[in-house]
Amino acid sequence: MTRTVVCLDGLDPAYLDAVETPALDALAERGREGTCEAAVPTLTNVNNAAITTARPPADHGIPGNTLFDPDIGEREYVRSAEHRQADTWLEEVADGGGDAAAIVVKEKLRDLLFGERVDAASAEEPPARLEAAVGEAPGVYSGEASAWALAAAAHVRETRDPDVLYVSTTDVVPHKHEPGTAAAADWVQALDAGLAALARPGDELVVTADHGMSAKSLCVDLPTVLANAGYDAEVVRCIRDAHTYHHRNLGGAAYVHLDGAGDGALDLLADVEGVDRVLDREAAADRYRLPADRIGDALVLGTEESVFGPIGGDAETAVDGDPEATHATVGLRSHGSAHERTVPYVTTTGAALDSTVDARRAVSGRE
Ligand SMILES: [Zn+2]
Repeated sequence: MTRTVVCLDGLDPAYLDAVETPALDALAERGREGTCEAAVPTLTNVNNAAITTARPPADHGIPGNTLFDPDIGEREYVRSAEHRQADTWLEEVADGGGDAAAIVVKEKLRDLLFGERVDAASAEEPPARLEAAVGEAPGVYSGEASAWALAAAAHVRETRDPDVLYVSTTDVVPHKHEPGTAAAADWVQALDAGLAALARPGDELVVTADHGMSAKSLCVDLPTVLANAGYDAEVVRCIRDAHTYHHRNLGGAAYVHLDGAGDGALDLLADVEGVDRVLDREAAADRYRLPADRIGDALVLGTEESVFGPIGGDAETAVDGDPEATHATVGLRSHGSAHERTVPYVTTTGAALDSTVDARRAVSGRE
């Protein structure tokens, strides 16, 4: 019997309304289905770490895709197990002599979640034995990468019968295609077919997602807003990473390092169009169980329609517009804010999930 947790990246519940999913339905028939809350910021790293450690960001230490050290003024992409502050379920099982296996799409996620302690593989740097078994891994920016990850996991399940198995797909399709489109339907049906091949009778499975996805129409340039009011602040967009194809580094959450600029800056931000909510460090850490020493002085969350990013200028990912402007029109699908918090889940054990942090416990049967 294998205990399997599957994270279907970016599977907003709206995608399931539009398509028949016989495999997911069959799993739900064995147990339970519903929706639960992803951790905020609603990002891949934050929630994959929450799912695999069964702990909130305050404990696992991953507050986003970028870490900023105000003491030395340097930013670093989150991509290594060294950044994580709690063990994953799979590391614990492997350390205890059990067989733990994982398949993810991006190499950065493999390194972050599993380091060297778990036999984990990515579609980005696929082992030859997996490609020989399930075919050449498609590019990590392709719509087929998720189906490949599930097929590779099914192969591992079938041939090796691991004690625990983790699978995480990629969200390139929901970033590019809204629910109801043919491309979105193809993606969901491929995920469902992948689950049908992965799930063996008698196995325990939990299937959930790391975040939803919203159509975004407004970009807000927070550094320009602050600079116009005389504040010299550092704005760290939580989604910012080395993979810009999906979301152009535009998401609905940012940490603000004020360097002593004071509360006036937070009041100012709270009134800006496209800003849903501003929480100071303590309030953000308390409400969203975030690591207080890694989130700067405040968390700024966008509305359902807004993202944060640079407007005009030379930055590779800048939105078209006047470099002096604080707002610009955009058209993309993204996440990061509290509006992408609701995600679907299915458990074969019948366990209910309140949040993605509960996913591991729903199969492992222990605290
Ligand atoms: Zn994701």
